[in-house]
Amino acid sequence: MKRRTAEPYRIKAVEPLTILTYEERMEALKRAGYNTFLIDSEDVYIDLLTDSGTSAMSDKQWAAIMMGDEAYAGSRSWKRLEQAVRDVYGFRYIIPTHQGRGAENILSQLKIQDGDYVPGNMYFTTTRAHQELNGAAFVDVIIDEAHDSCSEYPFKGNIDILKLHNLIDEVGSERIPYLCLAVTVNLAGGQPVSMENMREVYRICRNYGIEVMFDATRCVENAYFIKEREEGYSTKSIAAILKEMFSYSDGCTMSGKKDCLVNIGGFLAMNDEELYTRARELVVVYEGMPSYGGMAGRDMEAMAQGIYEAIDDHYIEHRIHQVRYLGDQLIETGIPIVRPIGGHAVFLDARAFLPHLKQEDFPAQALAAALYLDAGVRSMERGIVSAGRNKVTGKHNQPKLELVRLTIPRRVYTNNHMDVVADSILSLYQKKDQICGFQMVYEPPTLRFFNARFSPLSASGELMGGEGHTVSVN
Ligand SMILES: *Cc1c(COP(=O)(O)O)cnc(C)c1O
Repeated sequence: MKRRTAEPYRIKAVEPLTILTYEERMEALKRAGYNTFLIDSEDVYIDLLTDSGTSAMSDKQWAAIMMGDEAYAGSRSWKRLEQAVRDVYGFRYIIPTHQGRGAENILSQLKIQDGDYVPGNMYFTTTRAHQELNGAAFVDVIIDEAHDSCSEYPFKGNIDILKLHNLIDEVGSERIPYLCLAVTVNLAGGQPVSMENMREVYRICRNYGIEVMFDATRCVENAYFIKEREEGYSTKSIAAILKEMFSYSDGCTMSGKKDCLVNIGGFLAMNDEELYTRARELVVVYEGMPSYGGMAGRDMEAMAQGIYEAIDDHYIEHRIHQVRYLGDQLIETGIPIVRPIGGHAVFLDARAFLPHLKQEDFPAQALAAALYLDAGVRSMERGIVSAGRNKVTGKHNQPKLELVRLTIPRRVYTNNHMDVVADSILSLYQKKDQICGFQMVYEPPTLRFFNARFSPLSASGELMGGEGHTVSVN
């Protein structure tokens, strides 16, 4: 018999959720122009828009908030955060920032010269933006499997060693200030990097004098995948695996809003004293004093505590298994999702889900809207709308993947919430023919997915082909 497990916490404070009727959700959806980004949080039952800054804090974190030392300089809370990062990640020097992109800004400014190249395992939006703003070209050196939604390869975040060698041969190591290694790879669906790959990449880069900087935002999730999948690690603790991971890097940027279990914050860390001295000068310009960097003392207390809680083996096991709990239910009922299931989200393949729609009819947008209408579950389009238009031709970019992202916040929902989501998706799948496509009626010039508005293409003007169907969620 397979023994079931439960959330490794009990609930001490609750936040009641609003549960609207089908008609009220329809109204909310129309007000939002059928774009889930524009729905008010108050009108959402289960919010799977993002796992960024949406974690639930523990009683110890809330208690730590009261201990915040708000001194302008030399804050006790800063000392505590600095010590936590040293203990858990092993770096000597830490620069606090308001969130991950603050750290990316400082790192990019300090290391990149005009005309440089920064290789990485698939880009992340803000990371690449800062590299490019400072004159570098981002070069994707991730393995090909990462771009194949059907590949079951266990470490789809790995660097392709041959691609890395080719880049070094082509542009010369002196044009590569550092390699940026994301653990895990957000845009590949939360796919991990193996320890073996980290070790090899670090060895090669050292030989050429190229530094390795981790995007450590989801490093605890990556450590869990190593424990689970890589030979020799099954009996090691997450803390020990993390320490080894970071031993193959020269520094990292971190968004505390993910694996540090807080709602805001971040840091830049490194071992090089000279880089640290320069970073201390720059952080004052963009973030704040080197002893708070854009965070309040109480934020730093909560983050220090969150850093320790995140490496609890039971916490991270449940985190990864909850995402999988949702994904496996969908797989069992034949619903098309991206595989293997990653660390933070389940991705529905909207093209396979709604084969009667053309990509220009925005199938992922339509499916995200239908999921909200059906059960009050908010997800996010990651397809043709997010991909924007080609700057030269003015046509829609047509990405290979047309996905709906269901992102699971940390420690926020129970597996019963996951059941509600799975039931709703299954019920939509059974009447998928009724879900119609969209036309875009308002298109913002940049980052259109945030503010675009749509209307259904059906004869009745209704999203679900006109047939009202109430799924009970209460
Ligand atoms: C969220 C995220 C960032 C940026 O961090 P912010 O705190 O949102 O600025 C960078 N890299 C990855 C992989 C992320 O998921």
